[in-house]
Order: sequence, then structure tokens, then C-alpha cells
Amino acid sequence: MNFIKIYLFDTLSGKKELVEKPKGRPLRFFICGPTVYDYSHIGHGRTYVAFDALGKYLRSTGLEVFYLQNITNIDDKIIRRAEEEKTDFKTVAKKFTQAHLRDMKSLGVTAVNKYALATDYIPEIIKQVQKLIQKKHAYVIEKDGIYFDVTTFKDYGKLSRRTTLQAEDGISRIDESVGKRNKADFALWKFSKYEEKRMENERTLKINNEKPSWPSPFGLGRPGWHIEDTAISEKFFGPQYEIHGGAVDLKFPHHEAEIAQQESASGKKPFVKIWLHTGFLTTQGEKMSKSLRNFITIDDFLKNFSAQVFRLLVLSSHYRSPIDYVQKIGNENQAKWMGILEFLAKLKLIIAKTGGEGIGRRNFEEFQAKFSESLADDFNTPKAFGALFTLMAFVNPRIWKATKSEAKELYASVSTALKSLGFKIGFPEIPRKIEVLLKEREELRRNQQFTQSDRLRKKINDLGFGIEDTPLGPFVWPLR
Ligand code: AMP
Repeated sequence: MNFIKIYLFDTLSGKKELVEKPKGRPLRFFICGPTVYDYSHIGHGRTYVAFDALGKYLRSTGLEVFYLQNITNIDDKIIRRAEEEKTDFKTVAKKFTQAHLRDMKSLGVTAVNKYALATDYIPEIIKQVQKLIQKKHAYVIEKDGIYFDVTTFKDYGKLSRRTTLQAEDGISRIDESVGKRNKADFALWKFSKYEEKRMENERTLKINNEKPSWPSPFGLGRPGWHIEDTAISEKFFGPQYEIHGGAVDLKFPHHEAEIAQQESASGKKPFVKIWLHTGFLTTQGEKMSKSLRNFITIDDFLKNFSAQVFRLLVLSSHYRSPIDYVQKIGNENQAKWMGILEFLAKLKLIIAKTGGEGIGRRNFEEFQAKFSESLADDFNTPKAFGALFTLMAFVNPRIWKATKSEAKELYASVSTALKSLGFKIGFPEIPRKIEVLLKEREELRRNQQFTQSDRLRKKINDLGFGIEDTPLGPFVWPLR
């Protein structure tokens, strides 16, 4: 059951497309994972929190979603890092895979059903390369590798709107070779230098698992950059599925190459129904990236702010827009999050006590409708939060007038809305010491000893807490 019609912007068609679950199986949702050669930074966090929130939102509407994510644990950058650290690629990849998964857990990224490590799918990769050779989309360059011939796939460039000539800049180190038919051709399988040794002396070669090479019918080697994704998605989803995404840099050449590989291998189109691309998290206008070394690790960010604050920071922008990170947006979102919690804490107090004469329900209904309409329209989270802040701006000045049932309804609808995006609601603890001082102050006020009670208020303020005297008694909250 999925009662709302949800639309998402598809990069390929350039239009908002209806999200539809196939009959009898979950909606298939595949997001490109990280290349594990360093710690994940908040740019990765932006992309993965946005997709986590989207996955959770889709599920909250009643859709069953299978969320698959690969982890690139074999790549030039991993090999280079291993060389620098005088260790092997597996050690590097394992260390940073574990760190990434730890970071994701700390950020509350829990929507992923399956993390698939590239090196666990070598047989599937080999099978796809074989199929591409057999269908004459791929060719062998001796002592080098197997390459995809982009001229054999007439749709090459349809996602990024490039011609094969314009696509020449899309090659990365692994795709470089003087023997290629076309400059834009990319590697599917790269023969390792051990392969050359094997050719020279087959019998003496021992396959060492620590080396980045695997046996295959075409020779010892390792997969190219793009092939792991299609091999993994075909294994779990088949040749066609509903949603595939990553950040905007993956549109070309990575996703373009994936389309070429999968549609050529299976002959079925379209490979993916909806292509999603998140905007970058930038610093001073430049993409935050491991290679530019202008990054803040997720771990470091979480030393100053909570995962909820990070989620709010991410979802305060549309997933397709860039976010320019400056220190102050951490503080701004911290204040916004505390404002939301304060609102909910006040409603809780009303629910626990007796409410007032009532404030009317029209605004609540408007909030619910706007919140859900905004998310259904290309996951417009900033607009959805706009609806929440409009509601709070209306309710806050008259909150103590809300009836108990209004407070209950409001609490339920706001907390359900937040949970649908993966937020966890946890209130700040009011220390025992503050509770005791507060009781003393109440006693003094009852006895009309206002000078002394004001002194206690000051003391409570000095300890970092504010007091609002309400018709339901004092409401205490951390000072911002
Ligand atoms: P990588 O490990 O660099 O391959 O990145 C893994 C995923 O995170 C890919 O979808 C990247 O496009 C995305 N990503 C990397 N850096 C950023 C950034 N600064 N902002 C948003 N997404 C990013």
C-alpha cells in the first residue's frame, strides 16, 4: 500500500517521475558507496544522510524498499595508499570500511539493507565482462586489459548529455592505455603486473590473496571502476530496477558507463527508471573531497554537534542543491534543532498536566498537508521544514492555551513527521541539581519571597538553564 503519489526528479529524462513499486517485490534502490582509502567526511555524510532520509521517507509511506549500497574496496587510490603505508590494499580497505560503517551508524544512517563489498562479487564481475566481450562491446588489449568500446553503444552520453568525443575527459587513471580504440573507452578488467609474470612463467606464479589481483578466464587482474556496480546490482536486482543514485560527480563518467555496460550486456532498456543525484557539500565553493584535503571528518563534526543537528543541516537544503559548509551553519542548525525539541517538550508538559482552552486545529491540518505534499514533490525537505517552522511560529506564542488533546495531536504529528525522515527525538537532561533548585524556588515564590526566588533563578541561569513561568508551572530549558 502506498497512498501518496511520490515524484522524484530523474536526471536522465530531466523530469519528475512517478515512484512506482513493481508488483510482488520491493522497490529497488541502489546508491553508490564510498571508495575506502581514507576517513569519510561530511560531504559523504551529506549524500548518505540525504539518501537515508529518502529511503526512510519512502518506507514511511508504506512502500517496501530494498536499499543496496556497494563499497569500493579495490581501486587505484586504495592501492596507492597501501603503498604509502607499506601495507597491502586489503588492510587499508578493511580499516576504512569499518570506519565508514561506524560513521554511518553514528549519523543514524540505518536504512541500508545490504552493503556489498566489490571484492565479494568478482565472479559476477567476470561474468558481465565475458558477456560484453561475447556481444562485441568489449575488446582485449594484450598485457593491458579489457575495454568497453563506447562507439558500440549508441546511447553513450545520454545521461550526461555528451557525445563520445566530449566524453574523452571522463577517463581516470585505470582507463588510460595507448592501445584503446577510442579515447573515451574505459577499463572493465585490468591485467595486473602479476599477469605479465604469469604469462612469462605460469607454473611458478603463486596467487597471493594480499595482492590486488584475481584469477579470471582472461588472466589475472582486477576490475575497472564501473563494472562492480552493475555486477552487484544485477546480482541483487536483475538487469533493470527503479532507483539509482549518488552525488552529482558520479553522473559522468561513472553512471554513464554503468548504463553502457548494463544495457549492452542485457539488451534491456532502461537500466534504471529514476536517476538521482545529490548536490555537493562544498567549502568556500569547492567540493569537499579527500583528494583536495579540505575536509572535516564525520567523526570530528560529531565532536561538536549531534547526528540530529547534522541531519537537519543536510535536510534544510534540497538534496539536489549544493550546501556550502561554514562553521556557523553547525551552530544555526543546533539552535533550530533545540527549538524543535523545546516545542515538543512543552507539548509533553501540557500532555502530562491539564491544557488550556484551545487554539484551534486548522494550522495543524495545514502543516500535515504541506509537509507531506512537499516530500512527495521531489523530496523537498526545506519546504517541509518551512511548514514545520510556520506551525511552530503560530503555536509557540499561544502554546499554553492548547488543550490536552490538541497537544497530543500536535506532538504525534510533529514527531511522526520527524521520524519519517530518520530523526531521533531525545530531550536534553535536566540535572538533578537544577530540579532541586527549582523546587526551592517554587517554595520561595509560594511564600512570596521574591528577592530570594530571583536569586535562585539567577543561580539556575548561571548553571546554563532558563526558566519560563507558565500557567502549568515552571518550564526549564537549556539556555542557548
Ligand atoms: P567517494 O568515496 O569519493 O567515491 O564518494 C562516495 C560518495 O560520496 C559518492 O556518491 C560521492 O559523489 C559522494 N561525495 C563525495 N564527496 C562529496 C561531497 N563533497 N558532497 C556530496 N557528496 C559527496
